[in-house]
Amino acid sequence: MSLKIAILGAGPSGLAQLRSFVSAQLAAHEEMPEIVCFEKQSDLGGMWNYTWRTGLDKHGEPVHGSMYRYLWSNGPKECLEFADYSFDEHFGRAIPSYPPREVLKNYVMGRIERKDVRQYIRFETAVRWVSFDEHTQRFSVTVMDHQTDQLHSEEFDFVVVATGHFSTPNVPYFPGVERFPGRVLHAHDFRDALEFKDKDLLLVGSSYSAEDIGTQCHKYGAKSVTFSYRSRPLGYDWPAGITEVPLLERLDGNVAHFSDGSSKAVDAIILCTGYQHSFPFLPDDLRLQTRNRLYPQSLYKGILWESNPRLIYLGMQDQYFTFNMFDAQAWYARDVMLGRIPLPDAATMQADMQDWLSREEALANASAEIDFQAAYVRDLLQPTDYPEFAVEAQGELFKRWKQDKKVDIMGYRNQCYTSTVTGTAAPELPAPWLEILDDSLEHFLSHDYAGVVGEPLEQV
Ligand code: FAD
Ligand code: NAP
Ligand code: MG
Repeated sequence: MSLKIAILGAGPSGLAQLRSFVSAQLAAHEEMPEIVCFEKQSDLGGMWNYTWRTGLDKHGEPVHGSMYRYLWSNGPKECLEFADYSFDEHFGRAIPSYPPREVLKNYVMGRIERKDVRQYIRFETAVRWVSFDEHTQRFSVTVMDHQTDQLHSEEFDFVVVATGHFSTPNVPYFPGVERFPGRVLHAHDFRDALEFKDKDLLLVGSSYSAEDIGTQCHKYGAKSVTFSYRSRPLGYDWPAGITEVPLLERLDGNVAHFSDGSSKAVDAIILCTGYQHSFPFLPDDLRLQTRNRLYPQSLYKGILWESNPRLIYLGMQDQYFTFNMFDAQAWYARDVMLGRIPLPDAATMQADMQDWLSREEALANASAEIDFQAAYVRDLLQPTDYPEFAVEAQGELFKRWKQDKKVDIMGYRNQCYTSTVTGTAAPELPAPWLEILDDSLEHFLSHDYAGVVGEPLEQV
């Protein structure tokens, strides 16, 4: 009997798992497993599908999307370029280093549409519950098929959880918020910066969402942006109109009071306070519980559920590397499922995890974090046949990106990087990012970029 594998979610991680099987060169003794991918949205792409909806979708399922209009990549595209599918190949020419969402989605999905993966996906099908039978060593996966309006269960040998972890908002409470007269929302529900034009805006949080939503609202005409941080400020050299203050303590009407005694009257509040790893379809003994970190606990090689490695989690770490890392994880997971990579005994797995965890806990700065994640990706790639790519060189680009942001937070997206895959030096944006208000694919590709196509970098 062939193996049966369930993949939960058809975002970049779930799609990486599907592609890993579609592109597998099976040996004579190997049989192609039977694969079913369950996806609650009506299309593939995960977080990259922009939706205007917030709250619940048309079937009453929680809306997955946290992306918003006018979102541009917050890292250089050269840091997420695939070794076997370059940006030059996809677009037929060189494009700037920081593309808007639609352009990036077009690239990432373009590679996927070529492979026939849709046939494996059951759309508009939400996973409701997963259980494991110790006796049969199989999982039962219960799903709600919204197309037929029926609940049904199926058995699988492996379950791959690829449902993402930037969708269920973490929403703290601040005294007085219930009487605040303006809009209060979480970043997950933010959609359009123009809503906050001419407004005094308070953003709580000091990570990527705060930084990106704050700078974007400034770009689209917010009167002022105030960032409130808990642990540390973003610390950039902000333009007039953007300030940073410590933690919000309470609200008195529309006046926000901060822990340094300062206060400010604001029109709206966006809680950029991160997300929860949420798996309402998993029982306690299978459910990953972690904060957003580079090496979540209980996952051998960052993917295999320690106490039952037939359960696999993809993309659950905090992310410098994204698509390439998901691929590396998916290829490793595939080879475990096919029996190509034998798993060591429990004590060896435990020691390996502990080693990575201790290394993670000792990381002192972003540069060390980038090296850590690069080493992690390299470790996964080593035993698989995933095409060689310049992990460490892409890591160096991430370090440059960090530096470029430090120099000019409102202008870092004007920088150009060189592809580790093709050697192409990215052309400049047609105008500074701050001045480009149209983020459509059509507009982005309407420019005649003068790219310099070069030689690929030496592969490591
Ligand atoms: P997701 O893309 O979240 O996909 C998970 C899929 O699982 C979804 O399709 C969802 O519908 C499905 N699902 C969830 N629950 C169920 C269920 N119960 N049943 C069935 N299906 C379910 N990364 C970058 O590289 N560059 C960027 O510029 C960038 N910008 C980002 C901006 C924002 C605002 C956010 C939130 C994230 C951003 N990311 C970015 C990171 C992004 O999360 C990853 O690029 C990528 O989407 C993660 O892929 P994933 O497949 O692991 O998860
Ligand atoms: P995050 O990186 O996990 O950060 C969460 C933030 O919330 C931290 O600053 C944290 O502060 C703060 N926080 C949590 N609880 C709080 C509380 N009770 N009070 C005050 N502050 C609190 O989450 P994120 O910023 O939402 O980023 C998620 C992902 O989205 C990232 O991968 C990012 O790259 C991506 N993203 C990308 C773009 C883009 O590409 N354009 C835009 C937005 C987001 P502490 O430090 O004190 O814990
Ligand atoms: Mg290899």
